[in-house]
Order: sequence, then C-alpha cells, then structure tokens
Amino acid sequence: MMNNILKIGCPVCGSVLSVQNQPGIESKSVTCPVCKNKSPFSAFRRIASNTGNASKEETTQYPNSKSGYAKEETETDIDKGPNYTLGKLAIPALGLSFQLKPGKNIIGRKASASSATCQIPCETKRMSREHLVIEIKKIPGKGFVHCASLYKEKVNPTFIGQNKLEYGDCVILHHRDLIRLPDVEARFEIPDNEATDI
Ligand SMILES: [Zn+2]
Repeated sequence: MMNNILKIGCPVCGSVLSVQNQPGIESKSVTCPVCKNKSPFSAFRRIASNTGNASKEETTQYPNSKSGYAKEETETDIDKGPNYTLGKLAIPALGLSFQLKPGKNIIGRKASASSATCQIPCETKRMSREHLVIEIKKIPGKGFVHCASLYKEKVNPTFIGQNKLEYGDCVILHHRDLIRLPDVEARFEIPDNEATDI
C-alpha cells in the first residue's frame, strides 16, 4: 500500500502531479515542480482515476521511479538549480534530433496531414499524427520546465521510462528520460546537462 501513486492537481497552476502515497501525507506540503509553489497536500485537487479501482491497482505495480514523478519532497529536484536550456528530443534509432521550443511542441507521426512540430517517420500507424505534447514553460527565476502529456485521449500506450502516461497527466521530463512512443523510443535531453552533470 505504501507504493500507491496518487494523482493530484496543483492548486496554483493546475498541473497534474503523481506523488507517492505515504502515511500522514495529508498533513504534508508538496512543492509543485512546474510552478514551484509549495502548497499543503490538502489544497491539491485529487484526480479521480477514470477507470476506478482497476487502474488504482495497476499503479501499485509500477516500480519506484524518481523520474518524472513529483515526490513528496521535491526539493532534491529543485536543488539542481534553474535550467535555462531548452530540451531536445533525440530518436537514436533514426538518427534524428528535434530542438524543442518554448510553448507547445507536438510530437507525432510524419504525415502530410500532420500538424506535429516534431514529425517522426514511422513504418506503422501506431503512433498518432499528433501524439505527444511537450510543453515548455518558463518559470521566472527558475528557467524552463518541460512537461509531457498526451495530445489526445485515444492513443496507443506511451511510457515515460517505466511509467505509463495517462491522458491528462503532465509529467515533468528530466535529462535522459526515455519516452517510449509506439514503435520508437525517444530520449529527452537537456544539452547543458551533458557537460555539467550537477
Ligand atoms: Zn503548480
């Protein structure tokens, strides 16, 4: 029961965060990795799971992962300091690399009717033409925060590392996170971190 993942909505910016449930969490404070505001847990909106208990059980199977998940104490992530570098999306298998831009970057399958800003050539149609959104928000004094979410509800399963990305989730990306899209794996990179691994 300790490894339950709770989904909560930030009362300040509305981002959906996944946190590890733990005894006494109701009395603790959570720092939002997107807007950096610290709020009491009780102020966060609880996100009900669409599929009810079945999905709740499912989340308990996920291995503990530090990647992409807001911990109850997110100070460790924030202590890495502000990030002033825009991320890149690399597709090693295809030798591709996309420079991401502030605002919404739409990742999808390459097609003439695709409005994706990062179009990935695919042999099958398992990836949607508009599949994943990486939104880059600039937080004053804190630099860029990269947030991954699904473009629409009905897409083939997509994972950030080991964690399945659910529609409506906003998962904070970290340097070298693996984004497992249908048919292809993409790696999120913040170029600065290559040289100076803090
Ligand atoms: Zn927030």
